[in-house]
Amino acid sequence: MASPAVPSSRKPHVVCVPHPAQGHINPMLKVAKLLHAKGFHVTFVNTIYNHNRLLRSRGPDALDGLPSFRFESIPDGLPESDGDTTQDIPALCVSTTKNCLAPFMELLRRINTRDDVPPVSCIISDGVMSFTLDAAEELGVPDVFFWTPSACGFMALLQFPHFIEKGVAPFKDESYMSKEHLDTVIDWIPSMNNLRLKDIPSFIRTTNPDDIMLNFIVQEVEQSKRATAIILNTFEDLDHEVIKAMQSILPPVYSIGPLHLLANQDIDEGSEIARMGLNLWKEETECLDWLDTKSRNSVMYISFGCIAVMSAKQLVEFAWGLAASGKDFLWVIRPDLVAGDAAVIPPEFLAETEDRRMLASWCPQEKVLSHPAIGGFLTHCGWNSTLESLCGGVPMICWPFFAEQPTNCKFCCDEWGVGMEIGGNVKREELETVVRELMDGEKGKKMREKAEEWRHLAEEATKDKLGSSVVNFNTLVNKVLLG
Ligand code: UDP
Repeated sequence: MASPAVPSSRKPHVVCVPHPAQGHINPMLKVAKLLHAKGFHVTFVNTIYNHNRLLRSRGPDALDGLPSFRFESIPDGLPESDGDTTQDIPALCVSTTKNCLAPFMELLRRINTRDDVPPVSCIISDGVMSFTLDAAEELGVPDVFFWTPSACGFMALLQFPHFIEKGVAPFKDESYMSKEHLDTVIDWIPSMNNLRLKDIPSFIRTTNPDDIMLNFIVQEVEQSKRATAIILNTFEDLDHEVIKAMQSILPPVYSIGPLHLLANQDIDEGSEIARMGLNLWKEETECLDWLDTKSRNSVMYISFGCIAVMSAKQLVEFAWGLAASGKDFLWVIRPDLVAGDAAVIPPEFLAETEDRRMLASWCPQEKVLSHPAIGGFLTHCGWNSTLESLCGGVPMICWPFFAEQPTNCKFCCDEWGVGMEIGGNVKREELETVVRELMDGEKGKKMREKAEEWRHLAEEATKDKLGSSVVNFNTLVNKVLLG
């Protein structure tokens, strides 16, 4: 659905600025590609750290882009390093807030003096990269915020100033971390019922009034009010109530997801744009061939995204729980998955499961979750993973780690009917039982049916001219970005 060719000098020009973590970069790249398909010139801004990582993981020409789709980079302000691991998130948040505006302004000025690219006409920045607002104001262009968490997670983050006002956060002392206290019902968030304190994004659970993430979230949700509009990677049928409730407290909110389905619809599969990827880890695609040999709904997929870490003990419990379940499984074990150590998998476990498992350090997850062989997903409930699972019709075992993942877990289990939670301190026997229940039990069957329903609704939202996300995306383009 590419737009008719527009002379380059007259094209609208969008600058996309993701937060520098994989779960933020992936959906922003999809927005960028969709806008390119609508005739926009695109500048996509990575941090130098990630730019260099991408050249290592994807090859020296990975960021060559196209004449109308350019990659640029700015420093994140952290001390220089050439590691291949996820950076310290609180340090990154502090540093981008303090240090990124000047190099970003400099980049915009440089772009605007070139005569081979059209002048910058709009910015789409991650909701936690609010330094872009001052730059947009100086240029006199709209700045749309892309909040990449779930709608329910974002709605809960929007309440952080109220949690502070009400004296709920920060916690008075460590005793407030008790199970009893975390079970306290939170019944005052519009559109969200039956939440407990434990379901609120993890940054609330601190005793430190100067906690970096608590204060950062308060600051960024406040800044969101200055954005021209907000976009979310979800769809009306899934999050209607929550989106309606946030409309009254924010600039216009557009749900334009699931973005990977929208992108599949709008972008020619064989095109150079479709092949452009920004995986910070090298993808191991052999797992797709392996899945082709497996029967429908027979394989468990396990992945904890790019930030979650676990202890060596937890890894061992997961391993033996999977072994005991008797199921085939595909397990992504990032090199930095185990905190402070290399992930050591027990050799006995490897020998015992040899003929029914595949291990990878990074896989093409969207393709994996839409593969018919996948019957269940053990996940940390990152929003992209959750949405990709819903779109694949795959029910989940939820092991939330941090940020808004506990909120996503709560919604998966109680609102959307597609998840079962396992305890943070996972035990092999518990995992074995839950995997069996998910893959073979009555509860698992019901959850799979429900996930299929969501898959169908997600497809409807991104289809034809009248899908809700298609309509919202077109409104965003015509009214906000070009208007
Ligand atoms: N992902 C992937 N391959 C993997 C594991 C993850 O491509 O082996 C992708 C996944 O498809 C998703 C992103 O990495 O788009 C992870 O984002 P999510 O929001 O689920 O979690 P986060 O990493 O932000 O905690």
